Amino acid sequence: MIKMGEIVNVKEIVENKKVELKRRIEELNKRNIFPKLALILANDDNASRIYVSNKRKLCDELGILEDEYTFDKSVTKQEILDLVNKLNQDENVYGILVQLPLFEHLDEEEILLNINPNKDVDGFHPLNLGKLAIGDETIVSCTPKGIITILDSLNIDLKSKNAVVIGRSRIVGKPMIHLLLNRNATVTVCHSKTKNLEDYTRNADILIVATGVPHLVTKDMVKEGAVVLDVGINRIDGKLKGDVDTQGVLEKVKYVTSVPGGVGLTTVVSLVENLVEIAEKINRD
Ligand code: NAP
Repeated sequence: MIKMGEIVNVKEIVENKKVELKRRIEELNKRNIFPKLALILANDDNASRIYVSNKRKLCDELGILEDEYTFDKSVTKQEILDLVNKLNQDENVYGILVQLPLFEHLDEEEILLNINPNKDVDGFHPLNLGKLAIGDETIVSCTPKGIITILDSLNIDLKSKNAVVIGRSRIVGKPMIHLLLNRNATVTVCHSKTKNLEDYTRNADILIVATGVPHLVTKDMVKEGAVVLDVGINRIDGKLKGDVDTQGVLEKVKYVTSVPGGVGLTTVVSLVENLVEIAEKINRD
């Protein structure tokens, strides 16, 4: 009989995290601290609207204040920069989130650079990415942070493990590499120019796939007993598919996350966790 692996119950992990965050937010409230998140939406992309709405919903559920600033295509870079500067100075605002992508005429890089790094709740500011790279305490990008939450919940010790990350984007792959390195994993990074991908993936105790290529990773590419985290979100014929053939790899791996119902669930909760950490730190110093 084939011994099957397990699909990680990410929903349960997220529910536990929410209970913990609610308690920490109540502790802050008792000290008269009511952290607020400012969300800036300057694009007409439907998916971005849904993401912003999901983030606001979770804030409401957990007792975080939030303000949304929505702009149409006539918005100028200066208007966004002025708003960011105003929010930087507002001591009730603990986190500033600029939903990406922005309208094409806006300079994404310059706008992100103007966010006060201490309020950079998405962890995209170069200073925060740099701190992560040198192993300092910092605000970490939400999706990689959520992946660490999942690995911790499964009690997986990363020390000396072979971790392979497929994808090197600023928001997922790159921060992920450093989080794994900081936990003493031996890290290999693969990308679209990597030859013979399976030579690397077959050696991975921990495999993190963030490419946007549906079912890139199949059963023959994974190691027996591996832990596979599927970040990809691909819409195919109206259905969501990950970057991993979940059912196929289940016959070999120990754990795999599903799409939907996997890593994506932890991303939003990590955003609130970042905000709570910012509020706790400011009020501790
Ligand atoms: P991205 O910026 O497009 O980066 C994709 C990465 O995958 C790049 O580094 C690219 O290599 C690499 N890649 C592409 N095709 C490949 C192939 N055939 N073999 C190996 N590597 C390949 O994407 P992203 O923002 O990191 O997102 C990746 C996926 O995760 C997307 O499906 C996205 O929707 C999803 N996502 C999910 C969440 C969540 O909350 N679950 C959050 C963010 C993103 P090069 O660098 O060489 O181009």
